Amino acid sequence: MSSQSFEFEANPTPVDASERGRVLEDPGFGKVFTDHMAMVRWSDDRGWHDAKVMPRGPLLLDPATAVLHYAQEIFEGLKAYRLDDGGTALFRPLENARRFRESAQRMAMPELPDDLFLGSIEALVKADRDWIPSGDGSSLYLRPFMFASEVFLGVKPASEYLYLCIASPAGNYFKSGAPAVSIWVSDHYTRAAPGGTGAAKCGGNYAASLVAQREAIAQGCDQVVFLDTAERRWIDELGGMNLFFVFDDGSILTPPLGTILPGITRDSILTLARDQGITVREAPYAIDQWEADARSGKLVETFACGTAAVVTPVGTVKSRDGAFTIGSGGPGQVTQALKARLTAIQRAQAPDPHNWVHRFG
Ligand SMILES: *Cc1c(COP(=O)(O)O)cnc(C)c1O
Repeated sequence: MSSQSFEFEANPTPVDASERGRVLEDPGFGKVFTDHMAMVRWSDDRGWHDAKVMPRGPLLLDPATAVLHYAQEIFEGLKAYRLDDGGTALFRPLENARRFRESAQRMAMPELPDDLFLGSIEALVKADRDWIPSGDGSSLYLRPFMFASEVFLGVKPASEYLYLCIASPAGNYFKSGAPAVSIWVSDHYTRAAPGGTGAAKCGGNYAASLVAQREAIAQGCDQVVFLDTAERRWIDELGGMNLFFVFDDGSILTPPLGTILPGITRDSILTLARDQGITVREAPYAIDQWEADARSGKLVETFACGTAAVVTPVGTVKSRDGAFTIGSGGPGQVTQALKARLTAIQRAQAPDPHNWVHRFG
């Protein structure tokens, strides 16, 4: 099956063009949605079936639907861009497809084939093409997800699943350039243990992170950083973004894969940095070392990265023991250069040596 195999049922009452135009001027993030959604069903006996793009609307769920009780759910996040030449593009969508399959494996769910994953997105974006904002830094955020839809309270992998993809126009995550964020070090709550679900993109990881994120806000910080479960010493990642450290010798470091989410932005930054001859290390970095290096000036920049906010500088770090500032407390040079390089490729405004841009439609 591919995008051709998606049946299309047009929304009979789409948002009218003038209202859509108003919404697209300042869409914010994750608040407004397009006219359609993609859906594919899976059952034990039929496998994947009923692929369609249909009017977006509420789902009717039995109160005993398995996901509501045991949280068997995974998701992805990627963006469709309107290019300067009027074309439409996705960024490395097959990496999202692969990670979606890997998340499914970890959560004992059926794997959605890559052609169906990509087909659902292409079919949806084609139907809702007019919803892609054209402003600087804006895009159509796509949210593929899958959950256990079987009606059964027994604890076991479900025998029925629903895969959906919805789309939401998104403005520039930070309107006036990327301000530096402040980070709270979670010394009590952890995000993921070895053998756990840290590398799977599942809703449950987010549910477990919210109390720590709330603690960060209460401490006057924007985001929380999680440490490893055994020693509470090694830096993992933020609630929803990977971390990079930049040193005074020009080298960069990021924590190794394992318990963290394998970010596609993380992988892209690693590749772009290597392309530029920057020395790159994927190695554990301790929280006390981070503070010592920031104070001595050995560490000059830190940034977080992920699809939604792309690259976000970290300005200050706060913990129960005190606080320290990274560099000048604002966006650093290496951070800004890597961000500019990545976003230029994503928007097809720079050569694409790794064939990351997927044009269609
Ligand atoms: C999605 C996600 C990221 C970023 O991944 P990208 O592929 O770069 O968007 C980082 N950490 C967590 C926990 C995530 O869920």
